[in-house]
Amino acid sequence: LFVTFEGGEGAGKSTQMRLLADSLSARGYRVLTTREPGGSVGAEAVRHVLLSGAAEPFGVRMEAILFAAARSDHVEEVIRPALRKGIIVLCDRFMDSSRVYQGVTGNLEPAFVETLERVAVNGVVPDCTIIFDLPAAVGLERARRRAANDSPDRFEKEQLETHEKRREAFLDIAEADPERCRVVDATRPPDVIAAEVRELIEALLPR
Ligand code: C5P
Repeated sequence: LFVTFEGGEGAGKSTQMRLLADSLSARGYRVLTTREPGGSVGAEAVRHVLLSGAAEPFGVRMEAILFAAARSDHVEEVIRPALRKGIIVLCDRFMDSSRVYQGVTGNLEPAFVETLERVAVNGVVPDCTIIFDLPAAVGLERARRRAANDSPDRFEKEQLETHEKRREAFLDIAEADPERCRVVDATRPPDVIAAEVRELIEALLPR
């Protein structure tokens, strides 16, 4: 089972992924948690280039290809082997983040983004994608508070308008692919969200 966690900044994806992993592990399931960009040795090297802004001067196409290169390594080195072993894989961001960040707000042509996606995932498509939805202003405020202790990355310094556009883009993806995607209201308390996520995934588990 391959589950991805998607949404804008400060939506609580990482927290919810951890909570779900703990609950599944406690019930005896083998679980792997991972994240993008990164998640494999090669992809973590590329993550640094992307999040430090080092690739920014070379344009959004270059960045999109780097995201795809990282994803390809992550899929082949980590995700596919784990799924083959029957391990449940939970991933913080995956192909939908590229559709939204590089495709929609990066203004890349859909055909270019689709080609990169196909090459990078190489058949490894999530069984379930949970989209954590909340108003951009709320998410940004949360992300800012976190960044005060953490190192703020350049992606979080963008306009509110851009973040609202991304929120809409995630919702559009969910609407276009209701079989795979579930939208969760991320404005609620973490334990309430965690219970809903658990329920969603439990319905998909082998019995
Ligand atoms: O998951 P997290 O919010 O920490 O992601 C790190 C950053 O990478 C995000 O701020 C996001 O803007 C950026 N990103 C991106 N394109 C992707 C994945 C992540 O721009 N495909």
